[in-house]
Amino acid sequence: MKVVKHQVRLTGSRLGEKLKKLELSRSVTLMEVCGTHTHALFRSGIRHLLPDRVKLLSGPGCPVCVTPPGYVDLALQLAGYQDTIIATFGDMIRVPGNRGSLRQAKAEGADIRLVCSPLDALALAEEYPLKRVVFLAVGFETTAPAVAATVLRTAKGGYTNLTFLTAHKVIPNVLRALLTGKEVALDGLLLPGHVATVTGAQALKFVPEDYGVPAAIAGFEPVQMLAALLELAPMAAESNPVLENLYGELVTARGNLQAQALMEQVFTTVDSTWRGIGTIPESGLVLKPELADYDTRLVYGLAENDSPGPTGCRCGEIITGKKIPPECSLFKTACTPERPVGPCMVSSEGTCGAYYKYNV
Ligand code: SF4
Repeated sequence: MKVVKHQVRLTGSRLGEKLKKLELSRSVTLMEVCGTHTHALFRSGIRHLLPDRVKLLSGPGCPVCVTPPGYVDLALQLAGYQDTIIATFGDMIRVPGNRGSLRQAKAEGADIRLVCSPLDALALAEEYPLKRVVFLAVGFETTAPAVAATVLRTAKGGYTNLTFLTAHKVIPNVLRALLTGKEVALDGLLLPGHVATVTGAQALKFVPEDYGVPAAIAGFEPVQMLAALLELAPMAAESNPVLENLYGELVTARGNLQAQALMEQVFTTVDSTWRGIGTIPESGLVLKPELADYDTRLVYGLAENDSPGPTGCRCGEIITGKKIPPECSLFKTACTPERPVGPCMVSSEGTCGAYYKYNV
């Protein structure tokens, strides 16, 4: 299979018209893997332009949504320790674990800080040398390199009061798990441009080559998503297994080698538990043994429980395309953005949150 590069030349409205009028030889089910795409597709109105023969499901590319509840419980446990600061990206703070959320813990006095970058956690460690800072290292290939760089900087600077509670995941093997599963027949994948910027397009060629499923790498602007769907839907209808790179301005064949080198220097790939999906081989990242001094679980001697998460929450089925949010009995009733039951409603990349926000 070859990686094809395309330039988007038509305007968004012309592409939109083309998509609306697209004629396909059969009905197809596509999946946008990434939560950023999920929200961008709703926000731009592109979902309303899809022809009847295209069904679009949302996938597992929302880092908060796939983080198991036991991880949140562990973060809550750490938040209860004296002289401990939990540093986290914003989405994590509202995700419910089995004993509440970090937001509730913060309201009860725990020292929880929202940060925009892992380097902010290092700045906290510098500012508060007598406190222990725990950074909640959650995210895909898009955030792992920055965390890796921060771990190295922490080690080089001799900081002993910053550790990393890792829950990093990588995309390729969850795609394999999705495509191997028999419950949802996917005819094509819309792949996330930012992940591919790091991994390179070649790392995603296995989708057409091993599974016979066409795929398109897309950016997040409306014209980029439209162009990708216009390529992907016909390929899916014709069962033409090709990987098209529609984000050629940023995604190269081999990806960001510097980011990959940072990840390789700091992380080991391990089997990892995905919320609602289970354990997927070689789909998570943990710190290498030589960086054990910065691994929160090892420093504190902790391990997370493997609880299944809130009763009635269907996040696991939603991020695998088996259900859509309105098929969850809690959607818009017991579960709303103000009172979320599961992470898919909380996260800015969550499918339930998108369906709620855009009133589907
Ligand atoms: Fe879970 Fe709420 Fe989504 Fe239902 S609507 S799947 S409870 S997040």
